[in-house]
Amino acid sequence: MRRRGLLFFWSTGSPHEMAETVFSRIIRRELPAQIEYEDEEVIAFRDINPQAPIHVLVVPKKPIATLDEAGEEDIPLLGKLLWVARQLARQYGIAERGYRLVLNCGHEAGQTVYHLHLHLLGGRAFRWPPG
Ligand code: AMP
Repeated sequence: MRRRGLLFFWSTGSPHEMAETVFSRIIRRELPAQIEYEDEEVIAFRDINPQAPIHVLVVPKKPIATLDEAGEEDIPLLGKLLWVARQLARQYGIAERGYRLVLNCGHEAGQTVYHLHLHLLGGRAFRWPPG
């Protein structure tokens, strides 16, 4: 009798960890982007579909899919995203009048790109609550 081969797939549990995203391709310079800031850990570039006069995405180079999938070891990196956004807001001259930071986590929040990112939005007044 012939035995059927079995193929096993091992996973560490994250539903998004293997997904290649457009942001990974921007980080690797395979796709164009208007890059506003970059260091060894973080990149920031203009959103392709801006929702405000200033709309920049602040992105860790580490491919963390969502905030929910970040680990305790990522705490300094998460803080750095806020710091870079703050520095950019000052650079754009919107720090005094105010700006909004948005982080969509998961599908009900409207996350569409599963590579963690912070939206820096400014240059207009925003309403609350958001839609
Ligand atoms: P989110 O809905 O929070 O996942 O946000 C994803 C954001 O990525 C959206 O605001 C998109 O407009 C933006 N986006 C998608 N593709 C690109 C791209 N190639 N360059 C810049 N921004 C992009």
